[in-house]
Amino acid sequence: ADFVAPYDATVIELLRQAGSVFIGKTNLDEFAMGSSTENSSFFATKNPWDPNRVPGGSSGGSAVALADDLCIFALGTDTGGSIRQPAAWTGTVGFKPTYGLFSRYGVIAMASSLDQVGTFTRTAADALTLFETLGKPDHRDSTSDVRFHEFDFPDQGLVGLKIGVPGEFFGDGLDVGIAKLVKRAIDRLSELGAEIVPVSLPLLKQALAVYYILMPAEVSTNLERYDGIRYGYHYPDQKAESLTDSYFKSRGLTLGTEVKRRIMLGSFVLSAGYYDAYYARAQKVRTLIKQQFDQIFSEVDILAGPVTPINPFTFGEGSNDPLKMYLADAMTVPVNIAGLPGVSVPCGLDDNLPVGLQLIANRFDDKKLLSVASVYQKSTGYHKQHP
Ligand code: GLN
Repeated sequence: ADFVAPYDATVIELLRQAGSVFIGKTNLDEFAMGSSTENSSFFATKNPWDPNRVPGGSSGGSAVALADDLCIFALGTDTGGSIRQPAAWTGTVGFKPTYGLFSRYGVIAMASSLDQVGTFTRTAADALTLFETLGKPDHRDSTSDVRFHEFDFPDQGLVGLKIGVPGEFFGDGLDVGIAKLVKRAIDRLSELGAEIVPVSLPLLKQALAVYYILMPAEVSTNLERYDGIRYGYHYPDQKAESLTDSYFKSRGLTLGTEVKRRIMLGSFVLSAGYYDAYYARAQKVRTLIKQQFDQIFSEVDILAGPVTPINPFTFGEGSNDPLKMYLADAMTVPVNIAGLPGVSVPCGLDDNLPVGLQLIANRFDDKKLLSVASVYQKSTGYHKQHP
């Protein structure tokens, strides 16, 4: 609660050098675990479009700061959708770059092989501007990789571009209102000149299960350091009965329910006897999912679909039903599993609640992705609607 970072993360350093004026830190789910900000240690953030509903998460505070015009951009991290999903639910643009493109140095690790820093903006063009500042190599992050491709902003609309629409994104569980708006957005991409190609990625159906095995495994490992000795709350020595008691109390008294649930799940899938059945198998399926995306991107430039299957839920609906909350991540997690760039762009209102169109590109095609998003956005006015 009272922690003040002793040094700047690379992304903060870069923004500072570029002259940014920082106005505050935003709320989020504890350790970025959640889809609603209800797991925050402080309070839940409300959705300005309907204060009875969640703004999405985990970077809900960043999304709302943007939706309410408190700032012109905000940062977040996206491990399984925490930028794109709250962007979709607040009518803002949420961009998750290719894995490794924005430095993770100074970012608290959730699941290191999936975590990526990204941006909230009102337009995809603004996201491109920030990309120029943040897409820099960093020797302090061993996964830093900035081999992105240049892309000339298309002045002929989207002529010459192939956009794939995975059928798996439009299956059972997708809200009809969302399906309608996303299909209308895809029609618009076609009017702008893109060739729309129906495609199939059968393994998308396994992505959620893979994510909810690999992510908790990495979470349980990364959060080992919060043992109260160097990191995290330290239980008073005079009260602790032993070193073990100190560890148990330091962690047990302070980590939230969702965080504990994931540490337990992660410890389980990594434990002797279950490692091969869960963790090792999920890693293999991860490789297959990546290969399926590689194959698709040899045929199309961009993939299009919904960001989330449902509209923002009311407070308590998701936090009282963790599985329901996890299921809402089905369309965002495949992008993290394959390390791809993805963006959520506003595509209309369903029942007066904003809906996002998700565009996905191949690794390092971030500029192509944002350019396409920008062409789409310039032909619509949805991002100009305010709560
Ligand atoms: N909602 C997802 C989860 O709870 C994504 C979190 C994130 O991207 N930080 O894990």
